[in-house]
Amino acid sequence: MTEITSSPAKTMKAWVVPKHGNIDVLKLEDRPIPEPGPGQVRIRAVRGALNHLDLWVRRGIPGHKFPLPLIPISDVTGVIDKTGEGCVELAEGMRVTLLPGRSCGTCSHCLEGDDPLCSMYGIRGESFDGGAAHYIVAPNVEVFPIPDHVSWDTAAAFGLTFLTAYRMVNTRGRVKPSDWVLVHSAGSGVSVAAIQFARIAGATVIATAGSPEKIEAAEKFGIEKIIDYRKSDFAKEVRDLTGKRGVDLIIDHIGKDTFEGNIKSLAKGGRMVTCGTTSGTIVDLNLAMIFFKGLSILGSTMGSRNEYSRCLDLVSRGLAKPIVDSVFSFDELPKAHEHLESRQAFGKVLIKISD
Ligand SMILES: [Zn+2]
Repeated sequence: MTEITSSPAKTMKAWVVPKHGNIDVLKLEDRPIPEPGPGQVRIRAVRGALNHLDLWVRRGIPGHKFPLPLIPISDVTGVIDKTGEGCVELAEGMRVTLLPGRSCGTCSHCLEGDDPLCSMYGIRGESFDGGAAHYIVAPNVEVFPIPDHVSWDTAAAFGLTFLTAYRMVNTRGRVKPSDWVLVHSAGSGVSVAAIQFARIAGATVIATAGSPEKIEAAEKFGIEKIIDYRKSDFAKEVRDLTGKRGVDLIIDHIGKDTFEGNIKSLAKGGRMVTCGTTSGTIVDLNLAMIFFKGLSILGSTMGSRNEYSRCLDLVSRGLAKPIVDSVFSFDELPKAHEHLESRQAFGKVLIKISD
């Protein structure tokens, strides 16, 4: 029998979501290695990180159409392997991380640093192919060099969650050193980052968490008080802790279950920033509370190129620290999904794509 050998690999392995469903829909396929065009670079992927978004992409969301088949994973880091024409500041061999969002770069929203409001805005691994492959091509404006001292795991683990939290706390929430900040669900990726950004700004942080393990893990971030939301009324605890004043800023992605308590917890002039609604989207709102107390409810999603570079800077200087829960091999992507879905992870679930 003759062994069939192929000359230099022209194909790569890629994980694909061909249709929505349970973990067994994830499929490992052979795909052509992509070629970088002008203004693009090709990256040999080293680490990817899972986000809850990966679970939504796989399961599907009623009423939302994903461009299937799709290579998942929004957060990817690697080494530049080939540069296209016109990439003057990027070179082969550079260690880089990729911005998880894509926008036109020229509309008024993009020019004002509100990239996620761009009508062309999309997320890697959700709106276009992501990083669950050995090679990936990206425009040079989405490529950010990583300093040598930052490990692959750390570089892979900040990504989408830190970007989202940075915009919520700093750009939308306008955190100040004198602020009391309430961050819900301290174990989640966005909250781990939000707590750190609020602390970096000098604010005093109160957090909620729902298990002793998550409370213990969150304690290292210099939080004033962690409230177990299963055991107590968080709005009452917030009022007691702040001398009945309330908090100036709330970072929320719970939605329905926390909304009423949030409005009660806000100090006069307080701001609540929401980036998600895991418990439900429809809430009862007493507008009198909003105008009498001068409250603001602000929406936020993802972040801009500039905000991503600020996250990378804070991570590089060791001021913000992504937390790694576990590292799975490339072949174990389904196992990594299972682990994330079990809600046991505290911190990021990473995929080791290569060394
Ligand atoms: Zn734009």
